[in-house]
Amino acid sequence: MIKKKSLSELRMDLVSGDWVIIATGRARRPEAFAEKKRNKEAVSSKYCPFCQPKILDKAVLKYDQSDGSWFVFSMPNDFPAFSKGDKLNERKEGPNRIMDGIGYQEVVVTADHEKQIAQFSKKEIKMVVDTYQGRYLNLMRNDFVKYISIFHNHGEEAGASIAHPHSQIIAIPVLDPDLKGSLDGAENYYRNNGKCVYCTMIDWEIKDGRRVIYKNDKFVVLCPFASQVSFEVRVYPKDHKAYFEEITEKEKEFFVDALQQALSRVYKGLKDPAYNFYIHTAPCDKQGYERYHWHLNILPKTSVWAGFELGAGIEISTIEPEKAAEFLRKIK
Ligand SMILES: [Zn+2]
Ligand SMILES: [Zn+2]
Repeated sequence: MIKKKSLSELRMDLVSGDWVIIATGRARRPEAFAEKKRNKEAVSSKYCPFCQPKILDKAVLKYDQSDGSWFVFSMPNDFPAFSKGDKLNERKEGPNRIMDGIGYQEVVVTADHEKQIAQFSKKEIKMVVDTYQGRYLNLMRNDFVKYISIFHNHGEEAGASIAHPHSQIIAIPVLDPDLKGSLDGAENYYRNNGKCVYCTMIDWEIKDGRRVIYKNDKFVVLCPFASQVSFEVRVYPKDHKAYFEEITEKEKEFFVDALQQALSRVYKGLKDPAYNFYIHTAPCDKQGYERYHWHLNILPKTSVWAGFELGAGIEISTIEPEKAAEFLRKIK
């Protein structure tokens, strides 16, 4: 058991070695996080770009409901930060390296203007995951693509500029620095301990139980020991798997179940908070990252980063991950 003496605890993330601060003394009641209601975006479907019938013309992959109407599709982003191309045009300017900002950006749109993933049935979540995987497998065939990021922003505070539920896929020629840190962390831990750092952490969390929210045969949903934000939730495959895109149909059933549990508990428990989720998976640059362990991170927007957070890059979590997990475990 962790002794509670001081007002806060510094906890180290086993993978990155980064420290987080968990306030124990001034911990808030879990219910208090749900009390701040967020402004609901009031744009009606009439003016919504994703609700226009012609939008389907842009679809590159689509899944339909049993009645034949579309449920989810992926299309190129109309306002990409990266341009299409197949050459990086790497060059130098003095000591600096430059290359063209080429890449692919897609938007994964679901049919209903308001209904969000947290409210979807398993069948519906599976179609979203199938779209993620299908597009991932397609985009990774491009030689210059080294890394593919799949993420979902919900709510204005989480950066969703269009209220209509949608995810994004970005395929780029460089690695995300945050992921790079985790790849190095996983590699170092393996070298020193002969074991995957994530498997070590998952085994311990399942044994300890205090931070586990839900588990099935293949996946576990937990609040990480060194949570970066209050109510951070992660979904991990229990078996050692480095690559999300290699998920089998059987494993996907369990992943969909775990993701539904994770998202719907956050949705119900925190009363529809703004949040971001993203998949962290081994890059597709063919370098072989067998020591990485893919997962999905959910980061609810439960606080605003102010001076200390921005200056130090550390958020003071105002709820202990054990309490957050206990609260979400009880939500049905
Ligand atoms: Zn819409
Ligand atoms: Zn592992």
